[in-house]
Amino acid sequence: MIDPGHGGPDTGAIGPSHTYEKDNTLAISLVLNNILKQAGAKVILTRDTDICICPVTNYSETADLQARVDLANKYKPDLFICIHNDSFTNPDVQGTSTFYSKENPKENESIQLASSIESSLIDTIKTKNRGVKEARDYVLRYTSMPAILLETAFISNPYEEARLQNSTFRKNVASAIFHGIYNYYKNPLPKA
Ligand SMILES: [Zn+2]
Repeated sequence: MIDPGHGGPDTGAIGPSHTYEKDNTLAISLVLNNILKQAGAKVILTRDTDICICPVTNYSETADLQARVDLANKYKPDLFICIHNDSFTNPDVQGTSTFYSKENPKENESIQLASSIESSLIDTIKTKNRGVKEARDYVLRYTSMPAILLETAFISNPYEEARLQNSTFRKNVASAIFHGIYNYYKNPLPKA
């Protein structure tokens, strides 16, 4: 399952050139969807257009995140891949981070998947490696399968904001996530 962050009334972070995180996360997710399908995977997107997941009349950030978790726990995909852009008050800050949660029941698999995707991304898009980190994101804590959240690059940094708008960059991000998933399955964790 691919979860493009934000959507609809929730723009996510807004870059200095007034671009929206929600558009970047969707564009990357749609390319990743195509690559995974071509490789034979069954893919479910939490959204494939500019919408929030919960009914827009009852929109709240929590309701939207809960709706994403409900989809994951209903369809029980093998993996939950959540795509975001990072943002910070200091516009100089750049780079890529991948998050997992200690509270996810598949913590070890999530760490393995996060490491595999982070290293594939750094090799491909050559962003600053901010590492694999633990986080308390709602969608990571309450999903029942291995789950990661990718902060692709900083939309608050003008250079990375421009890269996030670039279709080749978006394709390279999607392809790097795909290779990260592929390597995760190629190098499974030792059985406990
Ligand atoms: Zn976000």
